[in-house]
Amino acid sequence: SSGFRSLVVGVNTKVPLENGKHVTAINFDNAATTPPFVSVMREINKFAPWYSSIHRGTGYKSQLSSDIYEDSRKEVLDFVKADADYYTVIYVKNTTEAINKLSYRLYHNLKKGVILSTQMEHHSNDLPWRDKYCVRYLHTDRLGRISLKDLERKLRKYRGRVKLVALTGVSNVTGYINPIYQAAALAHKYKARILVDGAQLVPHCPVEMKQVGSPENIDFLVFSAHKMYAPFGVGVIIGPKKYFKKGGPEYMGGGTVKLVTLNKVIWDDAPHKEEAGTVNLMGVVALLAAMRTIKNIGIDQINRFERSLTDYALEKMRRIPDLKIYGDAENTGDKVGIIPFNIKGIPHQVVAQVLSQEGGIAVRNGCFCAQPYIQKLLCLSRNDIKRYIKDTQMLRPGMVRISFGLYNHFSEIDTLENMLRYIVENKEELIQKYQSMQAES
Ligand code: PMP
Repeated sequence: SSGFRSLVVGVNTKVPLENGKHVTAINFDNAATTPPFVSVMREINKFAPWYSSIHRGTGYKSQLSSDIYEDSRKEVLDFVKADADYYTVIYVKNTTEAINKLSYRLYHNLKKGVILSTQMEHHSNDLPWRDKYCVRYLHTDRLGRISLKDLERKLRKYRGRVKLVALTGVSNVTGYINPIYQAAALAHKYKARILVDGAQLVPHCPVEMKQVGSPENIDFLVFSAHKMYAPFGVGVIIGPKKYFKKGGPEYMGGGTVKLVTLNKVIWDDAPHKEEAGTVNLMGVVALLAAMRTIKNIGIDQINRFERSLTDYALEKMRRIPDLKIYGDAENTGDKVGIIPFNIKGIPHQVVAQVLSQEGGIAVRNGCFCAQPYIQKLLCLSRNDIKRYIKDTQMLRPGMVRISFGLYNHFSEIDTLENMLRYIVENKEELIQKYQSMQAES
């Protein structure tokens, strides 16, 4: 099907190659950011004439803007079937800010305790926990998967001390879909809460918070608009209202208070207490439009289509000599359209450069903000890691990652296959060419 192609902007953009020719850009870096939907851009234009300051204005437009902004929270909750009596929605700027805010906010509720995270987390769901809590990590196996057995073992080992299981819904490196509902049930059995990093999950898989009080209930969910076909600048926290009651805000100022005198402050309730300053109304309008479009297409259909793209790509890539796919190259388990790989004998930096400059194909290379996971998947030794710590300037090991969005197409994967075969057949020349180009620049 090419039915989804016309849903996003920019699919026919031509980009220059290194030889001066122009080709239609291929974007296989959707795990980083997706292009906006046409419907999102239309909604932004439609709303622009009504755009005004919110919460504190009395004009008609200002009232309308405030209503749209406040009503949007209900629609976000509906999107993940969350109970509006129990949960609140807090808008932040991205998933990273969402988790940092939670690590700050939950400190008042959870006190010092153990946070169970995993070796596959994006840095954004690892580093914010490190300085305030004792973090322990679930291991990943040879293929990069975590196990529920390991989760239960650690919940038992730190019994009573684990306050939160901080787990990604989908790995941004291997694309694995984690069993979040089973993990939630285990966490609750041991009186811990669960946070799901939904940055890679929400745009590609169905997600539900599940019934409050049920074992599978997800306590906290965070995600970013810019990975789900809306522009940059909006992230979402969904969490129980009761966790946002205690404590003053992280950022203080306009919009966070009920009353201020020269020597007394009464803070407002969440979500307002957590959204200091003038908010990103246009970003929220865009997020709503993106969610509606995803709902109209059907997330199951998106998931199925992206899976067929992934199967098609893996089938082709497995047959290319010297190409190593990390994680589950057979695509047997639950996985979204993310494929990390390397080509033997050629640095990942060069592969990524050739794909871009000679094929017009955008990918990502490096460690994808998940360095411990990459170190594990690459089987690096302790000594290797020590060397990197000593010399932060050295060329790091890493991988090349392709990641699909719903608008990608099988023919784009054919182009990728041709480029990869060309790279394999011309390794030496390409290394020379691109390393000398790097030296010149
Ligand atoms: N978690 C995961 C799993 C991600 O893939 C990303 C983005 N690469 C983030 C968190 C951070 O998202 P953002 O950059 O929007 O803060």
